[in-house]
Amino acid sequence: MPHSGSTHADRFPDADGYYGDFGGNHWPPHLGPVLDELAGAYEEIRSSPDFRRELDTVRTGLQGRPTPVHHLENISDEIGGAGLYVKREDLNHTGAHKINHCVGFALLARRMGKRKLIAETGAGQHGVALASAAARFGLDCEVHMGAVDVDKVDANVGLMRLLGARVVPVASGQATLKEASDSALHAYSEQHGHALYAIGSAIGPHPFPMIVRDFQSVVGQEARAQFLSITGGTLPDHVVACVAGGSNALGVYSGFLDDPEVALHAVEPLGRSARPGQHAATLTFGRPGTLHGARSVVLQDDGGGPSTVLSVASGLAYPGVGPEIAMLRATGRLSVDTASDEEAVATFVRVARSEGIVPALESSHALAFAIRLAAGRPPTERILVNLSGRGDKDVDFVLARQDGGGVLGG
Ligand SMILES: *Cc1c(COP(=O)(O)O)cnc(C)c1O
Repeated sequence: MPHSGSTHADRFPDADGYYGDFGGNHWPPHLGPVLDELAGAYEEIRSSPDFRRELDTVRTGLQGRPTPVHHLENISDEIGGAGLYVKREDLNHTGAHKINHCVGFALLARRMGKRKLIAETGAGQHGVALASAAARFGLDCEVHMGAVDVDKVDANVGLMRLLGARVVPVASGQATLKEASDSALHAYSEQHGHALYAIGSAIGPHPFPMIVRDFQSVVGQEARAQFLSITGGTLPDHVVACVAGGSNALGVYSGFLDDPEVALHAVEPLGRSARPGQHAATLTFGRPGTLHGARSVVLQDDGGGPSTVLSVASGLAYPGVGPEIAMLRATGRLSVDTASDEEAVATFVRVARSEGIVPALESSHALAFAIRLAAGRPPTERILVNLSGRGDKDVDFVLARQDGGGVLGG
């Protein structure tokens, strides 16, 4: 750790799993003992030297860590403002930051004597990362996925099956991510004796948000050291990440939370417009509420239920946000902005053409805001963006959409 004394990560969550007013355990009471068992096992295992060593080995060999920090020189020159740098989480095995915590959960499961990992997935990114980690550690893997999503994303469903996972289609309700989460939770409540729930983001009841944050913190620890080395000892002035539940954001923020001079920015999806149901900008338009077992900020409809959400980036289409992100915003440590579908798609194309990097549409939201921010800041400042994943999965969609509008040209 680069800091001494009491760090943010030491102070939060508190003993009850709260981050200020947010967090806690609001799952059905009969699951209390299950979560207590997990919290206890994690506390013991996390600091064991064997566990750390095994985690480091698999991060290096399977995942390809450390991922580099890279200067987007061409776009920075085009803008003429602050310099733009990216943390290349798109270079992780399976194409996004999610494998950082999937590998951690797989190791944890094995050490706890569990044989199986259970999770939900939306577009399949979390499912593929988890299936890969499960295969490496000889664990069964059961991925719950809305039936609508199963039909939509053939390639990831095939990959999960190839990697040995069982994909469970969920046909109830709207048959997408929310129903898949409910179904995965139900499966865990029935199978916790031999299975561990590997949640997809820094959400859910305590201790899940903490475990995901801790496993993702490798991103920020690396980024801090790499940035200091690239700049000869200067920290970034701004750190930017897109936020759904907050796992990639907390990962990169973790390297800078105890440096008050570094401004932290969250970017939410504005979708088609600011009208209800047309976006997934939870912190921007949401209210305090309880979702998936934690007290946090929730995007709610008139009846107080979770809103329908929309974003061109399916990984950002979530009506909640993790409790630690909610606290960081409430205390003023984190500022929140948005980027629209249209901006994200335009940025996807721009970064591909100017830099030779195809960012995920999720990450394109963070980049879109960072480019806007850079234009208004002096060249002496530097902005670090977490490039959370690669955009191969989005290419067909963007080409169809942009060709329709004649934007791509020759
Ligand atoms: C899932 C995903 C996200 C959003 O999830 P967080 O938990 O908020 O990070 C962002 N980027 C990519 C590439 C993803 O796959």
